[in-house]
Amino acid sequence: MRPVARQMEFGFHPVASEILEVKSQDDVGIAEACSRLMGIDDELTAICSRLCLMQDLPDLAARVGVEWNPRMRSTAGRATWPMCLIELNTHLPKISQEEVLRTLLHELAHLVTYERLGHGNCSPHGEQWQQACSDLGIPGESATHRLPLPSRKVKRQWKYLCPSCGSKIERVRRFKSRVACYQCCQDSKGGYYNERFRLVEISLT
Ligand SMILES: [Zn+2]
Ligand SMILES: [Zn+2]
Repeated sequence: MRPVARQMEFGFHPVASEILEVKSQDDVGIAEACSRLMGIDDELTAICSRLCLMQDLPDLAARVGVEWNPRMRSTAGRATWPMCLIELNTHLPKISQEEVLRTLLHELAHLVTYERLGHGNCSPHGEQWQQACSDLGIPGESATHRLPLPSRKVKRQWKYLCPSCGSKIERVRRFKSRVACYQCCQDSKGGYYNERFRLVEISLT
């Protein structure tokens, strides 16, 4: 269980802290519970519902759902409207419980903002969203995270080399048809395909 002082430091909403406290006393650790994933997380959904009620948003309280998404990589969480679904990255519990809750509240703030103002009437991380973050107990929340989540970078699999000018391009997918160097074709024949400038394919794997 985290010491009380730490909760204050993170500035969580008292209710959220209290609920998290209950969770951390469970025999099953949060990370373990999360790794069983899939489907709606009843406990986290209950936290969100309760916070929505406290914001006087009973409709949102009834509709909100929280789900773990094992396909997320660099994205910590996502809130989808009008489904009112919050998806959380399954790597978050490995970082800390604080980050689970913080991300949950960050995403909930998006839903609260949409519910209050209507989707499309507010910028994603604008003033209204910042207000919602304050209301939910995470004032000063930033739009982006700096969490050590897996990189989204996809490895380039193919390299193509122009035999004439030597310029290179890298691709994840292989070209399906013959491709020539754009610049060289432009320079010599006004943009028409020229076999002389056909790119040489090199596999990087
Ligand atoms: Zn956001
Ligand atoms: Zn070229």
